[in-house]
Amino acid sequence: MDHQTTRRPVGDHQQALGALVGPALSRPRRRTHALTALLGEAGRGALPRVVAGDAVAAADLPGFDNSQMDGYAVRAADLTGATPSDPVVLPVVAPVPAGTQAPPLARGTAAPVMTGSPVPADADAVVRIEDAEPPVFPEPGTPATVRFAAPVRPGTFVRRAGSDVAAGDVVVPAGTPLGPAQLGVLVAAGVAEVEVAEPSHVLLVSTGSELVPAGRSLGDAQVHDANGAMLTAALAEVGARVTQRVVPDDPAALRAVLAEAPDDVALVVTSGGVSAGAYEVVRQTLTDAWFGHVAVQPGGPQGLGTIALGKLSGSGPGMDRPESDNSRSDRSRAVPLVAFPGNPVSALVSFELFLRPVLAASTGAAPAHRPRRRAPLAAPLDSPEHLHQVRRARLDADGRVEMVGGPGSHLLAHLAAATLLVHVPPGVAHLEEGDDVDCWEIR
Ligand code: AMP
Ligand code: MG
Repeated sequence: MDHQTTRRPVGDHQQALGALVGPALSRPRRRTHALTALLGEAGRGALPRVVAGDAVAAADLPGFDNSQMDGYAVRAADLTGATPSDPVVLPVVAPVPAGTQAPPLARGTAAPVMTGSPVPADADAVVRIEDAEPPVFPEPGTPATVRFAAPVRPGTFVRRAGSDVAAGDVVVPAGTPLGPAQLGVLVAAGVAEVEVAEPSHVLLVSTGSELVPAGRSLGDAQVHDANGAMLTAALAEVGARVTQRVVPDDPAALRAVLAEAPDDVALVVTSGGVSAGAYEVVRQTLTDAWFGHVAVQPGGPQGLGTIALGKLSGSGPGMDRPESDNSRSDRSRAVPLVAFPGNPVSALVSFELFLRPVLAASTGAAPAHRPRRRAPLAAPLDSPEHLHQVRRARLDADGRVEMVGGPGSHLLAHLAAATLLVHVPPGVAHLEEGDDVDCWEIR
């Protein structure tokens, strides 16, 4: 085969996939949830949620003027002219513990306040306890005075109501993933309900007559469905909800799974059955899709197309039929289909290269790109010159890139041990120790 002319460049396939899948996922359904329900989900480690409609603060944050320090609430005007040699001496009134309401502060007095205590009305500043003399609070109930050796500016150490966010202001804008800080501020600002994007529903189909679902025992020549596990977790990480199926290398079985697809599936992802073997079920079933080779290793064989899901009254689901085709009933609808090769490392690397960026960008649940770095190789590296090679690696103690296993696309344990994907572009056949390579941090 003439590799140069017949293989699709990586960038071209990324573009083709993005153009097909991006628009299909760009308008997720929105739903309003009780914040407490979203907190429950977060506590169970459920899918990342993304805010779909600006969340508005129901209350000021802080909700009331409160002290930033343990100290004395004072009227700044009372301390004008205080110096070490001529301190201002004030009687100490009842302390204000956090969680209690204080009476207004009388002129010429000082009230002990704790961090988070409400600052009494008419007080306008807090002097830290360590800046007062004595620098300890008196026993509550015993008459006492306190000396201040310096003036204080109004506002000092007072956290003003609404200074973080004011009631009625947008506190978490649409498009923001609901992480710890976002959930925290929604609770703090009294928000009861949040409109979030419903996760895109992905139908994930592992194909192969040799496959056995996770946890079941293997017969002769059978293998566990590792791709189903990997891609389910990978899809969930970028905010997709996954329905997973395993089908043998039998077009009728694949058609049946597509016909029974849940109504809200927005994307189909398959693994296996796309290369040049004798039993390539995805290729054989989806005759209108693009199947070809991308100039990448691993992950060369790829497929991409649009598939009709749901019940068809005619010959069963097939590739995108024209609306006028009367074999298509109302229950079928066209969604993008992305077909990955079956070798486990190929499947996950394909996901990283082609689908993850598109999904992450459309759901907003994760950054569209993995963190990237350039780092020097710990040892020389060969790469097929006509291909974009992706190798699994980690950093050694000196911050150099050390390969984890060879290029074989069945080396799943090595992938699991790796922290980096190393990219060697086409046109490069050999790199020396110390040469810098592009790396994506995958964990
Ligand atoms: P295929 O792309 O279907 O030709 O499969 C290529 C290789 O990947 C074969 O060794 C398969 O047994 C293996 N394989 C395919 N699908 C899976 C899967 N879901 N989990 C683990 N290995 C798989
Ligand atoms: Mg197969």
